Amino acid sequence: HQGEKVTLRVLYQQASQDAGGARDKAVISFELFPPKTPKGMENLRKHVEELAQCGPAFITCTYGAGGSTRDKTLDVLDMVRAHAPGVPVASHLTCVGSTTDELRAYIAEAVARGVEHIVALRGDPPRDARDFTPVEGGLQYGNELVALIREEFPELGILVAGYPDTHPEAASPEADIRYLKQKIDAGADVVATQLFYDNAVFLDFRDRCEAAGITAPIVPGILPITSFAQVKRITSLCGAALPADLAEKLEACKDDEACQFAAGVGHATEQVRALLDAGAPGVHFYVLNKSTAAAMICKELSL
Ligand code: FAD
Repeated sequence: HQGEKVTLRVLYQQASQDAGGARDKAVISFELFPPKTPKGMENLRKHVEELAQCGPAFITCTYGAGGSTRDKTLDVLDMVRAHAPGVPVASHLTCVGSTTDELRAYIAEAVARGVEHIVALRGDPPRDARDFTPVEGGLQYGNELVALIREEFPELGILVAGYPDTHPEAASPEADIRYLKQKIDAGADVVATQLFYDNAVFLDFRDRCEAAGITAPIVPGILPITSFAQVKRITSLCGAALPADLAEKLEACKDDEACQFAAGVGHATEQVRALLDAGAPGVHFYVLNKSTAAAMICKELSL
C-alpha cells in the first residue's frame, strides 16, 4: 500500500485490531483552543512542541461560538504545522452563524492551509437562547454539515461528536444515538466523545451505539483534571459526573495544588489504561492548551 493514503476510519480500525495489546498503536489526538492573546499563542507553541513528542495521529483546534475565532482556529493550526512538522491537523467547525456558502469557503481555506480532517459540529445556541436556530441559508444539524463535507471535500477525514451522558437537548438517549447514526451514515469516519470520568458511562454508550448499528470507531474524550477549581467549572458545563472515589481524593487535597494535579492525572491514566484494555482504538485528549498532564499519561502508558 505504499503511497496510498490511510483514511481516518482505517487508521482507527487498524488500532482496534491491536487494542488490549499494543498500546503503541493507539491513535492519540490532542485538542487545543485558540488563545486570546499573542502571549497565549507564544506559550502554546512550547506546549505543542512537547505534545508533538508524544507522536499524535493529529492535533485539533476548536472553533469558537458564532465563528468568533474563525481565523484564529486556522492560525493555531498553521502554528502547529510549523512547530510540529509532520503532525496532521484538524479544524473543528460549527454551523453557528454561517450560511452554507460561508461554511464551504471556510473548508476550502482550511484545505488550502493544509488541514486534513474536520471535526464537524452543529455548535451550541448563543448563551441567551434556548434553542439553536440556523441562519438563513445555513444548516440545522451536524449530519447536514457532514454530508456537505463528504460530498464536496471527499479527501477530508470527518470526526463527529458523541455524548456518553446524552446531549442536553436530546429528546431521549435513544433519539440522540439515532441522530448520531445519521452523522455516520452521512459519511463521518469516527465519533469522538464528550469528556467523562466514569468508564462505565462510556462503555454503556459504546454498547448502545453498536446495538443501534453504528460501526464507526468510537474514541473516548479524556480531560485530565489538573485542579479542583477546574473540575467544578467543567463538570457544571458538560454535565459529566465525578465518580465518588475521585471526588473524595480531590476533596482531600483541596488546599494542595500538586496533590490535586497528581490525583487528577492518576485518575486519567487509569481511565485511559482501562479504556484501551476494553478495546478503545485511541484517545482524544482535551489538553486545554497545556502539555504536561497528557504527556505524562502517554509516557506512563507507552502510548
Ligand atoms: P447535532 O449532532 O446536530 O446534535 C444536536 C442536538 O440535536 C442533539 O440533541 C441531537 O440529539 C439533536 N438532533 C440531531 N439531529 C437531529 C435531527 N435530524 N432532528 C432532531 N434532532 C436532532 N462546540 C463549539 O462551539 N466549538 C467546538 O470546536 C466544539 N468542539 C467539540 C468537540 C467535541 C469532541 C465535542 C463532543 C463537542 C464539541 N463542541 C464544540 C460542542 C458542540 O458544538 C455542542 O455539544 C452542540 O450543542 C452539539 O453539536 P453536535 O454537532 O453534536 O450537534
